[in-house]
Amino acid sequence: MTSLPGGDCDQQPEPSAIVCARCGASAPGLPLTWTCSREAGVSRYFCDTCARENIRAIEGRLDSDWW
Ligand SMILES: [Zn+2]
Repeated sequence: MTSLPGGDCDQQPEPSAIVCARCGASAPGLPLTWTCSREAGVSRYFCDTCARENIRAIEGRLDSDWW
């Protein structure tokens, strides 16, 4: 089972808008450049900028509070 960023998140983003869990940026739908991290059964989304900065933490399944 591969574990690429965004590979284990819900493929059903909120119908209205996705909000970055870190910086609060929003975007309609789920841009391909955004990353989804599943934490404690909850899918959290990060914009491309935050995802890049925290890709290692996301891949390590670390809780966002750790940042
Ligand atoms: Zn962000």
